[in-house]
Amino acid sequence: MIEVTKALEIVAANSSTLSTQKISVRKALGYILAETIYSPISMPPFRQSAMDGYAFIHSRRHQFDVVGISQAGDHANIKLKENHAVRIFTGAYVPKDADTVVMQEDVMVNGDSILIAKMPEPFANVRSKGEQINAEDVVFDANTLITPAAIGFLACLGITEITVYKKPKVAILVTGNELVQPGKKLPKGKIYESNSLMLQAALQTIGVNKIKVHTVKDNLKATKKALQSILKKNDIVLISGGISVGDYDFVKEALLKNGVEELFYKINQKPGKPMFFGSKKDTLVFALPGNPASSLTNFYIYVYPAVKNKMGFSNTHLPKIIRKLDSEIVNNTGKTLFLKALYNETSVTILEGQASSMLNSFAIANGLVIVPHDIENIKKGASVTILPID
Ligand code: AMP
Ligand code: MG
Repeated sequence: MIEVTKALEIVAANSSTLSTQKISVRKALGYILAETIYSPISMPPFRQSAMDGYAFIHSRRHQFDVVGISQAGDHANIKLKENHAVRIFTGAYVPKDADTVVMQEDVMVNGDSILIAKMPEPFANVRSKGEQINAEDVVFDANTLITPAAIGFLACLGITEITVYKKPKVAILVTGNELVQPGKKLPKGKIYESNSLMLQAALQTIGVNKIKVHTVKDNLKATKKALQSILKKNDIVLISGGISVGDYDFVKEALLKNGVEELFYKINQKPGKPMFFGSKKDTLVFALPGNPASSLTNFYIYVYPAVKNKMGFSNTHLPKIIRKLDSEIVNNTGKTLFLKALYNETSVTILEGQASSMLNSFAIANGLVIVPHDIENIKKGASVTILPID
C-alpha cells in the first residue's frame, strides 16, 4: 500500500503525451495544440470602421458633404477633402484619406450634408490594421487548449488545419455478476450498473469522446479474454470493480496474466483504497474500485491527470482552492480522506454520507476536501484544501 502523493507521482511519471495528428479546425474542439501557430494575415486585414456612421478627416470642422459610401465588403478609395465625409458601416473599409469615424447617432443629416453634433476624438471608431494580430505573429503557443473562441480566431485568420495531440482511446471494462443495465427490470439481488455511465460522463468533461464500454462476469477466464483485445486497442483502460480481495475479484490476476506491469496496488486513502495501476507498452490501466463513490473519487484524483497528460494539457490536475471549514473534522483512520463537500465563496460544509458506496452525497457535492493521512484533527474555522468538481 502506498501514500496518495507517491501514487500521484507514479501516475504522472507513466502518462506521457500521445503522438500528434493534423486535424481540421472545425473538429479541433477540446484538443491541445502540438505546434506554435503563426498568423498568415493581419487581423483586421485593413482599417475597418467599428461603427455605422461617417468617416472623415478630423479637424475643427463640424459640417461635411457626404461624397460616397463604403459598405462592408467594399474597397473603394474615395478621395476626401477636409470638408468631405463618407457614409460608412461597421466592418467596412475606411478610405485611405479618412482618419476618424463618427457614429450615426451623433450626426444630424440634412440632404447630402451632415452636421456632427458630438465630435469624437481623432481616430475614434477606426480599427487599425493588425489591431488583433499582425501577419507572421504568434497566434497560439503549443499546448494551448482549443476552445470555441480559439476555433473562431483560427477561422478568422483563414487557418483550416492544425497539429494537435491525439485524444486517448479509452475502454471501460465493467465487472460484476450483480449488475443490470438501467432500463431493464431489476431482479432480486441485482443492482443497476452505474459506474460506466458515470465514468463516461467524467471523461467527456475533459473532452474524451472515443470511449467503448465492455462488460464481463466475475470469472477469471472471461476477464482475461476480454482484457486481451481491450489492452491492444486502447490508450487507457478503466476497469470497474473486481479489484478488491473477495473470492470473486479476478481483475488483478487477469491483468497480470495479460502481461500488465503492476505500478502500484492499494492506496492509503478513503474512499478508494483498492485500486490497481499498471501499464502494458503505452497503455495505462486503472482498475478502479467497484464502489461508485470510490470509483469517481479515484477518477478525479488519478485518471483525470493521466488523461490530461496524454492529451497534452499543461495543467493536468484539478485546481485547488482553500475555504474555511464550518465544522470540525476528525481523522482517526491514518488514511488520506477525500470528503464530499459543498463550498461557497467563503466556507465549506462536509456532507453527510461519506461511505464509498454513496452517490447521493457525491451527486450534490461541488468539491472534495482533502484531509492528509497524518492530520488527525482539523478545527472548525481552519482552512482546508478542496478539489472543485463542479
Ligand atoms: P467490487 O469492487 O466489485 O467488490 O464492488 C464493490 C461494490 O460496488 C459492490 O457493492 C458492487 O455491487 C458495487 N459495484 C460494482 N460495480 C458497480 C457498477 N458498475 N455500478 C454500480 N455499482 C457497482
Ligand atoms: Mg464485484
